[in-house]
Order: sequence, then structure tokens, then C-alpha cells
Amino acid sequence: MKAIHYLLTLLLLGSVTALAQKKEKPNPNKDAVIKSVEVKRTDLTGMSDKIWAYAETALKEKQSSKLLADYAEAQGFKVDRGVAGLPTAFIASYGTGKPVIGILGEYDALPGISQKALPTKEPLALGGGGHGCGHNLFGVASLAAAISIKELIQQGKLKGTIRFYGTPAEEAVGGKIYMARAGLFNDLDVCLDWHPGTEIQSGTQSSKAMVDFIVEFKGKAAHAAGDPWNGRSAVDGLEAFTDGVNMLREHVRPTVRMHYAILAGGDVPNVVPEYAKIWMWVRDSKRDGVQTVFDRVQEIAKGAAIIAGVESKLSVISGNYEIMVNHVGAEAVQKNIEQLGPITYTDEEQSFAKEIQETSGAPVIGLDGKIYPMIPTDEDPSGGSTDTGDISWVVPTVRLRVTTGAKGAPWHSWAEVACAGMSIGHKGMVYAAKALAMTMVDLYEQEPLRKAVRDEFEKTRNGHVFKPYIPEGPPPLPEGN
Ligand SMILES: [Zn+2]
Repeated sequence: MKAIHYLLTLLLLGSVTALAQKKEKPNPNKDAVIKSVEVKRTDLTGMSDKIWAYAETALKEKQSSKLLADYAEAQGFKVDRGVAGLPTAFIASYGTGKPVIGILGEYDALPGISQKALPTKEPLALGGGGHGCGHNLFGVASLAAAISIKELIQQGKLKGTIRFYGTPAEEAVGGKIYMARAGLFNDLDVCLDWHPGTEIQSGTQSSKAMVDFIVEFKGKAAHAAGDPWNGRSAVDGLEAFTDGVNMLREHVRPTVRMHYAILAGGDVPNVVPEYAKIWMWVRDSKRDGVQTVFDRVQEIAKGAAIIAGVESKLSVISGNYEIMVNHVGAEAVQKNIEQLGPITYTDEEQSFAKEIQETSGAPVIGLDGKIYPMIPTDEDPSGGSTDTGDISWVVPTVRLRVTTGAKGAPWHSWAEVACAGMSIGHKGMVYAAKALAMTMVDLYEQEPLRKAVRDEFEKTRNGHVFKPYIPEGPPPLPEGN
């Protein structure tokens, strides 16, 4: 019995020692950034709740962007508002010289998914927007991390420049693409980014590249029965186009996605339609793959116009690069989240999440606040696209995902709006701020880490010159701007 007890004690001691060895050395700067975020918890939660309630959609984030910019200014940052022709974009910077480290913050909501901070579906404002992607938490957490670094620069404990980028309209035209085209990220050594989610993970996954465009067909109107020979149908052109696209479907790689919506297709049957319009997205795992398919689609549009005897016009609206993963950066993030440890939840928070899961037909497993080991990068990323992809091709971009919602429940829906407006979201936001700030401490302190991050970036980029999929000229702004 005694021997067993002794053995157990030894084993236990052994594992404690192993744990202790795994812990990073104490770092006063990391302690300071954690404390800085903690001290501002009330401010941060207050700002996040305000942005959540404003629920302003893409390019209309006037109050949300002002709230963050004013707070940054009050904290001693120099703030440039309305950069890159985007009234709701801004840059807050502090410090001088190298290294220059940036951090991204989004704050746009999604239309039509207004929801109260309740575990059952109940709109806050009928027909209003909602933060179904948790961007109310995104912007605030990144700004909090930037402020904690600013304090260390101010105290002379870190050297260089910190820059917070207020990046609007992620859910629409992609504010970051316009900001990148304007060269606003060019002098950064590294850029950090995070995203709300349903697990805590360092960013080892990419996103899909895409191109977003419109094809219009212009024909000649005539009486569809009386003198159809005098008419040329724009809808014929559109149909020939979709036929061509759907034939192409068989001859693209399995990673390609093509989806479209017909926006105009004639008004009445007895008039040969003069005008037709289709909105289409092409996605693939990599930008090169998108371009290959897009080249074919442009030819199909021309061919369709010839078939129908009409004119066609293709206009690119926007598009994204795939995210270039930076593994060296992801490892740095991983060490910091392991040091921070998991997020723990109260029984009330777990019940809140479980009720959402039950209502939305997801497995009732509650919240997942544990730290996952780093996972290998998937060859073909699942899911959507983001304008952070473009940033990652301009500057090495280090990413993180933090739990702010109920696993399995639909994203971009009332379920995440509910969690983002209460303590589940707040916990994820504070956690993200700390993890990002700690990673920035590493990047400021360790020149070899910055070099390794940059070397990986240059190797992957392999000389590619950034060329975004946006048309010349200013960003398309909603009326009244
Ligand atoms: Zn998002």
C-alpha cells in the first residue's frame, strides 16, 4: 500500500514538474499586458455592447468606428480617420521607428439578423442588423491589445510603433482590400488578426480565394409575338451564359465553387427583354485557381453574347486572396494560448449555449473553451473567404480564433448575435485581447522571431506582386456618404 502511495506521489510529482517545465519563463511585459486588458474590462465590455447594439452594416459603421477611434485617441494614439476613401476606416498609431506591428479590428454587422441577448430567437429590432460574426468583439479586443502595447512603449519597455487598423465592411466590399491597395500596410513588419468562433485555435487554416463580378447583357426590345425578328433577347444571352458556366462545372477542379444570382431577367413575357443581369462568385483554394476559372468565364460571357446577338459587359466588384498561413507566427500564438489556459464558463453560460444548441438542432454540448494543439493546414480550406486574405499577401499575418459562441449552432445567425451580446462573447473578447497582446510582446522583444515570420512569408509569397480584384477608383459607398 505504502509502496503504491510512494509510486503515485512520484508520478504526480513527475507530471507537475513536466507541467512546470512546459510553462514559459516569467515575462513582466506579458504580465503587464494581461493586467492592462483586465483593468479595462468594464470599458471594453461597454464598448462591445454599444457596437453590438448599433449593429451597423458594411460602410455604415459610423458610430461603431467613432467609438473605437475616440477611445484610441483618448488613450494617446494619433488617429487618422477616413483612410483609403472609406469614411468608417481609421488608423490609430503610437510610437516611432521599427518594428512596426499592426493589428486588425472589424466592427460591421450583418443585415436582417437582429437578435436580443437571449438563448431563443427574438429580434431586438425587427428587420435590423446583428453581430452574427462577432465583429463587435473583434474590434474592441484588437484595440485593447494595441493599447496594452502602447503602454509598454510609453514606459520604454518596448521599442517601435504599434498600429491599430479599423477595417470596415468585411462582410461586403472588403475595406481591407482598399486599405491594402492604398499601401497602408506596406511598412508593417507583422500584422495580427483574430476572429470570433467556437473553439480556441492558433491560425493554421487558410480561406478560399474568390472573385465577385456582375455580367450584364443588352439586347433589343420588340413584341414577343408581333415582331420577334426585330428583337434580340438579353435573357437569351444570360441563359447561354449560365449554360456555359454549368458545362464548365464538369471541367473544373473539385475545389472550385461557382454560385450566382439572377438580378434582372425581363419584366413581362410579351416583350423581348432588353436587359439581363447576373451576379456571380467564383471561389477556389488559391488565387491562381480562381483566375484560371475566371478567364474561362469571361470567354463564356463573350460567347453567350455572340449566340444571342446581344452585347455583354463583365464588371468585377471585388474578390479576395486566400489567407497565407504563417506557421512560425501560429506557433508563437499557440505558446501564448497554452500559457493563458482554457476559458472556463459558469453554469448559466453553459445553459445559455445549450439552449441555443437545442433550439438550432445542434448537438447539445455547451461551450468549448479548451486549447487545441496546433493542427496541420488543410490543403483545401473549407468555408468562406475574407479580406484578411489580401492583407496576408502584403504583410506576414498572424492569426487566432477564440470561442465566442455555441459550437454547432449556425454562424452568421441569431445564435451568434445572442452570444456576442453577453458574457460568453465578452470572455472570448478579453481572452483574444490578452493572447494577441502576449504574442505582440514576443514579436517586439524577439528580432529573430520577426525574421523567421518574415522569411516564411517571403518564401510562400515567392515574388508574387499583390494585385487585388477591385476596380479602379474609390470604394462604392452607400448613399449619403
Ligand atoms: Zn467575420
